[in-house]
Parts: sequence; C-alpha cells; structure tokens
Amino acid sequence: MKCSNGAVYKTGGLYIHIPFCIRKCRYCDFYSITDLSMIPDFIAALKQEIEMTQAPPIAFDTLFFGGGTPSVLDAADIGSIVETVLNRFQFNADIEISMEINPGTVDVHKLKALLTAGVNRITIGAQSFQESELALLGRIHTAADSVSAIRGARRAGFDNIGIDLIYGTPGQSKTGLIRDLEMAVSFEPAHLSCYMLTYEPGTLIDEMRRRGDIEPLGESDAAALFELAGEYTASRGYIHYEISNFATSDAYKSRHNSKYWSFAPYIGLGPAAHSFIEPVRYWNHGFLKAYINSILQKKRPIEQREIIDREKRLLEAIYLGLRTSRGVEFDEFERMCGLSFTKRFHDLIHELAENGFASLSKDRFALTLKGMLFHEAVVDRFFYRLPEI
Ligand code: SF4
Repeated sequence: MKCSNGAVYKTGGLYIHIPFCIRKCRYCDFYSITDLSMIPDFIAALKQEIEMTQAPPIAFDTLFFGGGTPSVLDAADIGSIVETVLNRFQFNADIEISMEINPGTVDVHKLKALLTAGVNRITIGAQSFQESELALLGRIHTAADSVSAIRGARRAGFDNIGIDLIYGTPGQSKTGLIRDLEMAVSFEPAHLSCYMLTYEPGTLIDEMRRRGDIEPLGESDAAALFELAGEYTASRGYIHYEISNFATSDAYKSRHNSKYWSFAPYIGLGPAAHSFIEPVRYWNHGFLKAYINSILQKKRPIEQREIIDREKRLLEAIYLGLRTSRGVEFDEFERMCGLSFTKRFHDLIHELAENGFASLSKDRFALTLKGMLFHEAVVDRFFYRLPEI
C-alpha cells in the first residue's frame, strides 16, 4: 500500500495478547497471570487501547490472539474484540484470524462459537500425547482432552488447524517422539509446531533442573530428536518452513508469524505486546496492572521504544532469515541493509554450504536441517564478522 508519505508498506499483522492462564506451566516464561477475575477490566482496557491506537497507513491481513491462553476468554468476548478491531482498522477481505487454543479450555460448542466469532485458524497446544510428559510440563489437560479438542475443532467446522508439540523432555526417546508425531499427524493438521523444551531462567522446570530433580537430555540426544522431527514431518509431506514450524502447503504456513521473520509491520495490543512500524519497535507495559493504569489515565500503555538502525536490522535480518527455509534473499538483504550479503560473507557462506550446513543458490542462502540444528552457532559466526563492516 502506498502511503501519503510516499513509503510503500507490505500488509501488516495485528497481535492481541491475552495475559491469562488457568495455571502456569512449568516451562513457560511468557507473561500471564492466573487471576481470572481481572478479565473484565482487561477487556475494557484492551478496547480502549484499540480506540486510542492510531490506525497505521497499512491494511492488516492477519489478526492473532496469543497469550497466555486466549481460549480462557468466552467466545462472546473474543467476538466483541474482533468486532472492535475490524471497525477500527483496515483489513483485507481474506484476513487470517488465528487463535491459540489450550485443550483444557474448550469443547465443541465453544469451538463453534469461536468460528462464528470470526476465528478461522486455530493452533491446539497438545504439547504431548503422553500423560507423564504433560504432568512434567505442568499442563492443565490430558492427552484425551487434546484429542477431543482436535476432533471437536473438525466437527465445529475448522479447516485450518495446527497442533503444537514440545519435545526433548527429560528421558524422551526417539520412539517417544515418533509416537507423538504419529498421533499428531493422524489428525491431518494443516500445520505443526514442534518446539524443543528449553530451560528458561525463572521457570519451575529450570529450578527442577538446578535442584537435580530432572536431568535434561544431552546435546547429542536433543540433536537427534530435532533431526528426527524434521525427517519424520518431511516424510509425511510437511514443508519445514521455519526451525520449529511445518505446514502441508504454502497456504497453511502461519501468515502472521511469517511477518515477524520478514520485517513486515505489526501492531501488538495488550500487556507486553510488541509492535514494529519501521524503523521503530515499541512494546507495552509487561504487567497487567501497569497496562490498565496507563489506559485509565488516557495514556497509551507503551513502556519503551527503540529505533531499529542499520546495525540492528542487519543482525535481525541474518538471525531471522536463517530461521526460515526461505533463508536470506540477496536482493532483499541489500535493499534493507545496504550491503551485499554474498560479497561481505563470501568465504563463510561457501564454507557452510560445502560442509552441508546450508544451501546456496544464485538468489538466496538458507540453512539445511543440519544447519538449523546449529542455528545459534552459525549466526554467531556471521555476527563475529560484523565489527569489520
Ligand atoms: S498455557 Fe501457554 S502461556 Fe499459559 S503458562 Fe502454559 S505455556 Fe505459558
């Protein structure tokens, strides 16, 4: 879309953070609280934030409800939030409205009501189909709840269904992961997300690790599971389009998340939500009370802003680009960063390609499955060369 200032923007994404969970999972470091009595105040504040947010000069083609657990909200509340944003901002007709669903919070009636409210893509956080792993992760639901949510979503009429899994739990074997993947794929989801369990500081699972109550998988076992997830999903026809994400076709890739990986503009609403309108990134207060107080004082709840200058853009373009199968596109990189990727990193990209960590074609450089396994280490090698730029 061509704006009045002459800048040309791609379509944008709108993100809404719902900061409530029924109980905190042991591995989670996302912002959420378990005091559900604050939901009405939050919804009132969110609607005010929507009204006080300046509509950017772009049309949105995605609306994403993330959290927290968006599905703790009633479908009627989701419907009224959808209506408020559709009235406030400009959207494309083919908008993707996604929502993360916790299997412990829905039944077929609620799923039908969410579809009626406008949600047309859901990702169901099954995480595992093994009860012992669900208990270790501290999930509120059973494997049977996940199966019933997935079947309920189909019965409700959802076509675009994703299933999220977590793997690499202590003691998980290849057979255990295959069992989970086979179960997930048996429902023919359009999308799969498979996240390696990480031990983030401050989480309960990290405390358990430090106390010696659990023993994380060794590096080579974790690496074997990462490769297995990539190979298994490929053998079942899924496109591995981002380190942790797989889709049955281009049409079912997460349109919203793809914006984060490609510098498209996005607005985030709700506590802790981030926004990016080139060249500024800003984010909201991370605590619900601070967020609500700011809005009650008629102030936008922005906590901080940063300018994404050339150096930050360069770092992010490499870091994010190499997470995706699309990789770093040379023309786009040069346009965004004012630097020739192939000239600046000539030796490094050839070395990585020759050793099977990457594929190199005339227009792009992308990591292979083996390269994605070492994504952080590979990215560091690019970053070490940046001071010379
Ligand atoms: S349900 Fe999701 S957001 Fe909530 S605590 Fe668990 S992982 Fe975190």
